[in-house]
Amino acid sequence: MNIIVAKHAGFCSGVKRAIETTEETALNDKAYVYGQLVHNERVIEDLEKKGIKFVEDIDDIPENAVTVLRAHGEPGITYQKLKQKNISGEKLKDATCPLVKLVHSAAIKLKNNGYEVVIFGKKNHPESIGTSCYIRGKDTFIAENPDDASDVIDYINKNNFGKVAIISQTTMSVKGYNKLVQNINKSFNNKFEQLSLNLKDLSKPFVFVDTICNPTKQRQADTEEIAKKADVMIVIGGKNSSNSKELVVKCKELNVETYFIQSAEELKKEWFTDKEHIGVTAGASTPDITINEVVGKIKNIAI
Ligand code: SF4
Repeated sequence: MNIIVAKHAGFCSGVKRAIETTEETALNDKAYVYGQLVHNERVIEDLEKKGIKFVEDIDDIPENAVTVLRAHGEPGITYQKLKQKNISGEKLKDATCPLVKLVHSAAIKLKNNGYEVVIFGKKNHPESIGTSCYIRGKDTFIAENPDDASDVIDYINKNNFGKVAIISQTTMSVKGYNKLVQNINKSFNNKFEQLSLNLKDLSKPFVFVDTICNPTKQRQADTEEIAKKADVMIVIGGKNSSNSKELVVKCKELNVETYFIQSAEELKKEWFTDKEHIGVTAGASTPDITINEVVGKIKNIAI
């Protein structure tokens, strides 16, 4: 039996930073976190045990309370509402990942330069909701998968936009994004051209910008490499974790038997019957301890 663990698996830099910010804040203050800090239940439970309070509604945060903002980013209205509660400056610990902020800045710059910005992302994901608010609020067009290309084309044609820019949520599938652009370009005479993230040349009317973050790309590339060799793939991640779900899709696309779990307890002995090569990968919000527990349990039951 051979267990292959992805080189890039588990916490990305943005998740590490968000957790460290929260833990440091809680050392000196009673800390509130607005929203799910990262999409992993174990991480949240561990932080709750340290006295950190998670709230989904700003009304549940007391005035003047020290508050941490999650890694996925927040729209401007969140900062305004917190300011009304006297939560700003030293009292506001912004754990938004710098790579998400980069997408916000790009979206705003594109919008200010006359582009209609379309997002490739998940409509219910906090990152896409946040980015959308920086563009057109609720009306920003969000394409969830490559098959939505025809809807994007209808939207552009119906509104006769002169300039359109497509960007992506940081955790989407690289392959899916390329496919969406290809599908759009098929009906659009290849008008959409790639624009680099530094946005230097804003004269081209139809552009797409690669805003998927590098940690997501590394995890997808490693997972693909392992899945090509494996007889069975174990993907570890929170059920709400967008980047973990993309890893599952990637494995299934390669026709590998794949199981998506949150913890070692979910592993079943029969998954490993007659399997020689076992691949293990994990989303960006999965702690190392969970990955180690999963690998340890596989060693015990897959004999
Ligand atoms: S997945 Fe990428 S954008 Fe999201 S927190 Fe991690 S590094 Fe930042």
